[in-house]
Amino acid sequence: MEPTRKLDVVVVGAGFSGLYMLHRLRALGMSVQVIERAHDVGGTWYWNRYPGARCDIESIDYCYSFDDELVQEWRWSERYAAQPEILSYLEHVADRFDLRKQISFNTSVVSATWDEAQRAWHVTCDNAESLIATYVVMATGNLSSVKQPEILGLEEFAGEWFHTGRWPHRPVDMTGKRVAVVGTGSSGIQTIPQVAEDADQLYVLQRTPNYSMPAHNRPLSDDEWRELTADWRERRRVCELSESGVPVDAPDKSTAQATPEERRQRFEQGWQRGGISALSSGFTDFFTSEEANKVAQDFAREKIRSVIRNQDVATMLCPSHHIGTKRTCTDIGYFETYNRDNVELVDVRSNPLVKITTAGIQLRDRQIDVDTIIFAIGFDAITGALTEVEIRGVGGHLLTDKWVHGPRTYLGIQTAGFPNLFMITGPGSPSVLSNMVVSIEQHVDWITDCLKHLSGNGMNRIEASVDAEDQWAQHVADLAANTLYPEANSWYVGANIPGKPRTFMPYVAGCGRYRREVEDVAARGYAGFMLS
Ligand code: FAD
Repeated sequence: MEPTRKLDVVVVGAGFSGLYMLHRLRALGMSVQVIERAHDVGGTWYWNRYPGARCDIESIDYCYSFDDELVQEWRWSERYAAQPEILSYLEHVADRFDLRKQISFNTSVVSATWDEAQRAWHVTCDNAESLIATYVVMATGNLSSVKQPEILGLEEFAGEWFHTGRWPHRPVDMTGKRVAVVGTGSSGIQTIPQVAEDADQLYVLQRTPNYSMPAHNRPLSDDEWRELTADWRERRRVCELSESGVPVDAPDKSTAQATPEERRQRFEQGWQRGGISALSSGFTDFFTSEEANKVAQDFAREKIRSVIRNQDVATMLCPSHHIGTKRTCTDIGYFETYNRDNVELVDVRSNPLVKITTAGIQLRDRQIDVDTIIFAIGFDAITGALTEVEIRGVGGHLLTDKWVHGPRTYLGIQTAGFPNLFMITGPGSPSVLSNMVVSIEQHVDWITDCLKHLSGNGMNRIEASVDAEDQWAQHVADLAANTLYPEANSWYVGANIPGKPRTFMPYVAGCGRYRREVEDVAARGYAGFMLS
């Protein structure tokens, strides 16, 4: 990368978002450079190499749709692909479309400063090089800024420790080891059964139990593959217009309208189908009515109890929050793992973790000696990777100052005062509540069309108006307020990061409705944006 190179667009990040953005912008004839911290492509699937890492949206839907040949030539081996296969897919995409030549790896963007006179962004990187670009696209990911284990004494620990989101590239052998996993969110729930297989003794340190739906993962036979792909385009269209970006029929009635037998039957059907929408797709009021949600919770808790032999352990594993309001997990044998003799569930809500010692983990009332600690403690979600970069907009104002009380955006794509800066799956869009590849493709296509519109009309500046942003923020908040979502202490509201302002960040009304709303904005000449 040459110093102060002048470009049309700088894209930050080379995961699903950045790769597709680069492909589309190049086809527009724009000069583009992608900056990526990792030493190769993949984003989430480059970093999260922990044992058991895999997607929880079916592979057939968790992939790009933009190129027919790409769709036809890739054959997923399992219903839910494991991390190595998803990473191979993204590497294949990078090779197939010859994307790597425009990506600077091992480089982090540290700041971006708007220059009104030049109508351009000055972008600086950690290797001291800088770029000037008319537009910047933050393809930095919703789950890419890892939450650090800031625990007293960690540096004293004599064994090895890992964060699931920064898993090393070398093999990690846990055979014969005493291992602790801290955290029982999505990553913990995926890795715990795998670690239990290898470790001599596994301690699971749990603060909050989570609901998890069975994945019913399996290899995809040729017959099943043929069936799944027979009408793939139509399947994808259904995803795009659906609530969560997956081809599941919208429910047709509320819990109250169903008899107890019918409720059980629908939930049981969902459970047998598996996946994150196993229960949520049952009834219309799942996310809106406490009573309805309680019926689903009871069903899920009963399922947990039916698996666990020791009912004291089962009680510890039964969540009490509204189901679905924290990221619902999917698993392969998670609850069954607690029937193993070499696994112990440790409640760190009642007996908190005090510090790490040379030998292991000191709880208030107990010392646990271990050789390895795995932190499955998640991310500074949705905003973390954006606010990590020192972004200064009009008048030199910092994005972090603007968002001090929580993120504000227009459509989850731009934020007022920061012209020509786009976010992919930013706060205020369906993002983490959806199949993210569907949402990513939609944002990339929207941004591409927008830039085409600007250049086609001799313009090179676009900025969300404060009014439009205020209305959008209110709209997003009103939609969320009609649901149970904001009540949970989830990472959707930033509750996992001390000091993070509590705001419910995603748009809850579904991919289909969101798509119609943002398409309408574009059709009305980018209403709510100031173009010049
Ligand atoms: P990412 O894949 O996060 O890529 C962002 C890239 O930007 C990273 O490579 C990062 O290094 C880079 N970057 C960030 N900041 C900087 C900077 N300042 N300078 C340079 N580079 C930077 N979603 C689903 O829909 N279905 C799933 O099943 C699913 N499973 C998941 C499983 C795990 C374990 C995790 C962590 C997430 C999962 N997700 C899932 C969400 C997943 O993040 C998205 O689906 C998708 O991969 C996001 O792609 P992205 O390109 O937007 O972001």
